[in-house]
Amino acid sequence: MIYRFTCIVCPLGCSIEVEVDDGEVKEVRGCTCPRGKEWAVQEVTNPKRVVISVVRVDGGALPTVSVKTAEPIPKEKIPELMSYLAKIKLKAPIKIGEVVAEWKGIKIVATRGA
Ligand code: SF4
Repeated sequence: MIYRFTCIVCPLGCSIEVEVDDGEVKEVRGCTCPRGKEWAVQEVTNPKRVVISVVRVDGGALPTVSVKTAEPIPKEKIPELMSYLAKIKLKAPIKIGEVVAEWKGIKIVATRGA
């Protein structure tokens, strides 16, 4: 099977093909640097994403604050993370860039103040 991607690692946006046979990556074509190749192989074998969401806040100017994971997490774990984020409630004041929670070793960072 051949998977086709536009690389999102840098603005060049190379068109990459990853050939997979029996669950094993056989060949990667079209990437012009090692970072793109690494990303494309990961996209086929264990895709990850930085998750952006909101968390409820007590005592802030708004009822929620926007947050993101400090690093990409496996796509299949996103529903579990979203469920965790829906359950927690933070207390103002919160500064932009502050680590407001941690989920399974992944830091959750505020992307604005509250
Ligand atoms: S393969 Fe390399 S050069 Fe091409 S878009 Fe990806 S990161 Fe950029």
